[in-house]
Formats: sequence, structure tokens, C-alpha cells
Amino acid sequence: MEDIIAQTARKWLKERGVTVDDIAELVLFLQAEYIPGLTLDECRKNVEAVLSKREVQNAILTGIQIDRLTEKGMLEEPLQDMLKRDEGLYGVDEIIAFSIVNVYGSIGFTNYGYIDKMKPGILKRLNDKSTGEVHTFLDDIVGAIAASASSRLAHSQAPTPHIDD
Ligand code: MG
Repeated sequence: MEDIIAQTARKWLKERGVTVDDIAELVLFLQAEYIPGLTLDECRKNVEAVLSKREVQNAILTGIQIDRLTEKGMLEEPLQDMLKRDEGLYGVDEIIAFSIVNVYGSIGFTNYGYIDKMKPGILKRLNDKSTGEVHTFLDDIVGAIAASASSRLAHSQAPTPHIDD
């Protein structure tokens, strides 16, 4: 039984149009070439594991809350304008993403940087500025969850380290 924080994080992701499968597809995008025969189901399991972490749930709640308040024009200037425009030099959205990626080691940073640059799948939609929606925080959080799930997957595939290696 999930607690209220975990449940709310999932609910808000869904309300903002992001499903576990959307994130699992990003993981498949990142890992398919390195893990032959990788399935969407395996990716989904790793996304679920990342979503079960409290620090990830906290990041989701915080980011989505700020995005929603920005959408409603409820922040004070100059922050309102910076977040509404997804100002490139703002950077705090990326810091929150790093706090997620950090949980799974340095390979996560590489994955995050790559996916943030390529913006495949759901990340492309979240970055579409023509919709009136604001996903300044959520796009980085979703990218970070995918990067973390990819790191988790990569580590689970790695051969067991040997003392003489
Ligand atoms: Mg952003």
C-alpha cells in the first residue's frame, strides 16, 4: 500500500499527461542499443523502482506544484516571467533533476545530459511552448527519472565485480 506522498506524485504525473509507459519508452530509447532484447516491461520495472524513492516523489510534487502556479500566473516577478518563458539561465529546474540522477551514480548524469539534448518522446511534448502549458520543472524531472531508471538498468546488467579486476 503506497502512502499519500507516493500516491499523489503518481496522480499529479498522470494529470500532467505523463504515464509510466512514457518514461519507460525514454529508458528504452537510452538503453536499447546497449542491452540486446531489452523490453518495455523491463524498462517499466526500473521506472517503478525510481518512482518508489521518496526524494523522487518530493521532486515530482515540488516541480509540478511550481509549474501549475506558474501556469496560473501566481508567482511574483521576476520569477513568474522567468519560469513562464522557461528561461535558459534559470537552472534551478536542472538542479532538482540532478538531485534525482545523483541517487543512481555518475552514469545517470551522462544519460540525463543526452536525453535532455535529444528530447525524444514525451520530452518533446513537454517542451512544446505553443500549448500554454508550463512544464519548466517537469521536463527535467521526467528526463531525470528516465536517466536514473537507465542507470539502474545498466548497473543490474553489469557483471559482478571481481576482486582481481
Ligand atoms: Mg526545464
